[in-house]
Amino acid sequence: MNSSMLLARNARKYPKNEAVICQGRRVTYKELDEQVNRLGNALLGLGIQQGDKVIIFMPNVLEFVVSYFAVQRIGAIVVPVNAKFTLPEVEYVADHAQAKAIIVHEAVFASVENLQNVEIKIKTGAEKEGWLDYNGLIEKSDNAEISCLLKEDDYSTILYTSGTTGKPKGVLFTYRNILAVAHMIAIEMEVKPESRMLLMMPLTHSAPLHLFLMSAVLVGATNVLTPTFTPDLLIDMVEKEKTTHFFGAPVAYLVTASHPKLQTADLSSMKWWIYGGAPLSEKEVRHIQQAFKTDNLTCVYGLTEAGPSGTILFGYEHKDKAGSIGKRAAFGTEIRIVNENGEDVKVGEIGEIVLYGEGNMVGYYRDEEATKQAFIGGWLKSGDLARCDEDGYIWVVDRKKDVIISGGVNIYPKEIEDRILEFGGIHEVAVIGVPHPEWGETVKAVFAAKTPIDVEALKAYLSEHLAKYKVPRLYEQVEALPRNASGKILKQQLKVQAMVE
Ligand code: ATP
Repeated sequence: MNSSMLLARNARKYPKNEAVICQGRRVTYKELDEQVNRLGNALLGLGIQQGDKVIIFMPNVLEFVVSYFAVQRIGAIVVPVNAKFTLPEVEYVADHAQAKAIIVHEAVFASVENLQNVEIKIKTGAEKEGWLDYNGLIEKSDNAEISCLLKEDDYSTILYTSGTTGKPKGVLFTYRNILAVAHMIAIEMEVKPESRMLLMMPLTHSAPLHLFLMSAVLVGATNVLTPTFTPDLLIDMVEKEKTTHFFGAPVAYLVTASHPKLQTADLSSMKWWIYGGAPLSEKEVRHIQQAFKTDNLTCVYGLTEAGPSGTILFGYEHKDKAGSIGKRAAFGTEIRIVNENGEDVKVGEIGEIVLYGEGNMVGYYRDEEATKQAFIGGWLKSGDLARCDEDGYIWVVDRKKDVIISGGVNIYPKEIEDRILEFGGIHEVAVIGVPHPEWGETVKAVFAAKTPIDVEALKAYLSEHLAKYKVPRLYEQVEALPRNASGKILKQQLKVQAMVE
């Protein structure tokens, strides 16, 4: 089954259900399906064939959804690219993916105006020489049904990683992969035709796209999209559109939690407040639960390469296990914690999370070596270190690549970051290793706070709560920490900065 055909099915089954609401536009499943047919026919007319790669370079807008399903409907492979990428980054992806076409939204057109290495270039908005007009293509084309027989194991999507640790890698998925994780969320999080999904995080990332947009389309639910995120907009959209599900990075919850409007807002339509992509400490979880007045704050853990399937910590489990990522794996996935040889570690011991399931990527596109390295005995390596407690709950200790090795001893930054946040006044922190001539690395804390922090008092607090070797030697207060489009702190960038200072 081709995921775009799910949309066609919903156009018949729920023609009047709203499929997408975005920036004042409201489109039913029937209307969306028609636009998808029109764009699909136009793409066919331009000579785009099954297996060709088509880049989508857009924020969260209606045209993203139309383009995504139109490309898949004709059997081409969709390559959604982070709308914050610069021209050289898009050029790199276009070359690497061997893209035949690109569809760009006018809001981000300036970044790619001079793109040369793609044959067919389409843009929305005002006409521009060298670019085909998106609206013109749709208007001139017709709504004839497109029959493209695709099998579960045909390629559907290549998602490029953010490239924070080197060149972006293309994560290759089949229809089987993306439908598996969409089913997982629909089942685990009760997504129904009457559900209303609020999607403010970029659809170029696997979680908003495969878990949430796709699970909504799977059942005929409504997607409320916004091209940007602000706490104000989040509160407004919930109140106005009576949404039922929201997925956001932890930082989105943290900034909204301290927004004055939240106190009087009517958020009663919301059934599922879902966070993931980065950890939240128990203290942060309590703060958010209280501010949002919810007992259904739900954690999803996963990684792009797994679809992203992984684990879920349900609302009720937060009572005793806040800060954990859940017990066992989500529907359709298996999870283990293993040592370097791929053997299960004992309860309480630290090992690496590995995942097995239908969401797992086929591999990295055109990178056999990286694909080989990504798996151990058929299980996907997450790069996350974790331990399991006596009740079977899994606790992420840290990312393998962020572990600091000082004097031969492993130091897990997350533990130190949690203590620093407990000190008070500091709202975001990253603990990193910086080169040291004797110890290899030494521990540095970079943090943001609204008022100046007394570093000596902070050090004294940490010395009371942590072993001496874990207490950071270096401290830096900054205005804000650098984050990527999905809200993750860019530790690699901080490390490079620390090296040149
Ligand atoms: P890049 O694009 O540079 O590869 P990335 O690895 O951060 O970035 P993702 O696949 O989006 O890209 O991130 C997956 C990682 O995010 C996981 O391996 C884990 O470290 C972290 N993560 C995801 N969900 C959670 C969670 N609920 N709790 C803790 N960490 C999480």
